[in-house]
Amino acid sequence: MERNVLSRVADAAVRSKVGVLTLLEWLGNGAKPVMQIQAVNRAAVCTKCPMNQPTRWWEFIKSGVAKTIAAQERVRHGAKLVTRHDRNLGTCSACGCLLKLKVWVRLRHITDNLTDEAKSKLHPDCWVIKESDNE
Ligand code: SF4
Repeated sequence: MERNVLSRVADAAVRSKVGVLTLLEWLGNGAKPVMQIQAVNRAAVCTKCPMNQPTRWWEFIKSGVAKTIAAQERVRHGAKLVTRHDRNLGTCSACGCLLKLKVWVRLRHITDNLTDEAKSKLHPDCWVIKESDNE
């Protein structure tokens, strides 16, 4: 099962001509996403969170990361990393991440790249905080 997901991610990256660095930037070392059930549970929390805001692409364009995010989105689609909540996921106003991408990322990669400022803005019910508390 796990190998299937890894193969899907790798195949999708090749098909989409997305480089390894872009993939690792999203999913971290090993490019291994979390299990579907974990991503769905995280997404369910985000849909109820006030920090989940409509995605403003122009802000990604302004910051110069739009191409990278679009490439990561192509891989996510290609690898069928989807949840039933996707249509209600925007951008986290605490960390600035696109939530459709973020819910698939292993906790360690998220916390390793979370600034103190962003961490302080996470909602108290955020799954990042809950999962960190349970580690
Ligand atoms: S603060 Fe946490 S739960 Fe809320 S939108 Fe951001 S990642 Fe999702």
